[in-house]
Amino acid sequence: MTIPETADPRAHSRPADSRPETGPADAPGRTPDAFTPESARKDVPILHRTVNGHPLVWLDNAATTQKPRQVIEAVAGYYGTANSNIHRGAHTMAREATDLYEAGRAAVADFLGAASPDSIVFVRGTTEAVNLVAQSWGRGRLGPGDDILVPALEHHSNIVPWQLIAKETRARVVPVPLLADGRIDQDAYAGLLSSRTRLVALGQASNVLGTVPPVREMTALAHRYGARVLVDGAQAVAHLPVDVTALDADFYAFSGHKLYAPTGIGALYVKPGVLGELRPWQGGGNMIDSVSFERTTFAPAPHLLEAGTGHIAGVAGLLAALNWFTSFDLAAVAAYEEALTAYARKAMGNVPGLEILGPEARRIAVLTFTMAGRDPADIASWLDRDGIAIRAGHHCAQPALAHYGLAAAARASFALYNTPEEVDRLVTSLLELDRSA
Ligand code: PMP
Repeated sequence: MTIPETADPRAHSRPADSRPETGPADAPGRTPDAFTPESARKDVPILHRTVNGHPLVWLDNAATTQKPRQVIEAVAGYYGTANSNIHRGAHTMAREATDLYEAGRAAVADFLGAASPDSIVFVRGTTEAVNLVAQSWGRGRLGPGDDILVPALEHHSNIVPWQLIAKETRARVVPVPLLADGRIDQDAYAGLLSSRTRLVALGQASNVLGTVPPVREMTALAHRYGARVLVDGAQAVAHLPVDVTALDADFYAFSGHKLYAPTGIGALYVKPGVLGELRPWQGGGNMIDSVSFERTTFAPAPHLLEAGTGHIAGVAGLLAALNWFTSFDLAAVAAYEEALTAYARKAMGNVPGLEILGPEARRIAVLTFTMAGRDPADIASWLDRDGIAIRAGHHCAQPALAHYGLAAAARASFALYNTPEEVDRLVTSLLELDRSA
């Protein structure tokens, strides 16, 4: 069975006629009535600083996004006027902080399309979410001979936690191979699934190729074998409409900092019917019902999985980020980013020796590239002198790069506040690098 990558159902809410054409005549950002990056840029103070004497061009959004002032003010405002611990203490500020925290949980549930806030566990980010599932679900559910399927495209944070728990439980982590062009080999995936498969761990969008695998179809197939599916949404949340219910994901993880929110806060969605399969993974305050040396009883999920004081200010920031992000027409944002990426792809094609990794298939705003004879770290340093921030290295996805015979590559990644002029500056600087000795 072969599933085309363009078959992802969440391409839906983007009417074809809302996509601006690319090209110099009407470069992205110029279409009347469509989303304009300036409407976002004006809110993001850091984008107005200079780096090495040049206006900053932030093209490292897949690593982390810049924060709108609404988020910065929410965090500062929380500490300035509302700081209190939550879920305990019978005073006004404890109640206010608890209400804020729980409003954040409800907003995340809403954003992800979850039926109930009780399905949302606050974590530090995607990495902690995957580790939580590996420990809290995996320790009790995995055993000798069980398989965990992980596409070779995955981020290290969706590989290593499985390796750790597999070692403890004597389960196996089985890589799902890639086709030559970098897409997941769907025939191989179908062939690897079996009654031994307990879990499939799958990114909704690749941080290296930007590709968007057919997650819903892959999830449905895994479910036929009774396997659970964890979807790593780290790269997807800022670029694709997410609906965990339509995806039918058992677990869905994301990091706030890739979605215009602060670092140190993220969320794990757990499907209601699966919550009961999770055991406590850290013990402490907040997660108990009663404690005695004879017998300790536990609070229901999601609190069961949130031992200790959470990142309350982070939740305030995440809530502000969700409010800010969803104040835009997200279908128009997605169309704009798609057009900007297509524009960048075309313009970067003019740089001699530059090759973009991955297939022509639909992708989010991520372009990973090499330049013949140039070390990716040198490309990044050259651009940095012009105030342009891109990433160089293994992108925490060494197996994915190894597929291309590479140890490192350069990556430009875009967000809703990037402009065609910034793409032009990137390409001009790359052309100058090519002409340099
Ligand atoms: N998965 C993917 C696809 C990512 O791109 C990243 C971050 N680069 C992560 C997981 C890990 O996210 P974090 O470091 O915020 O936990």
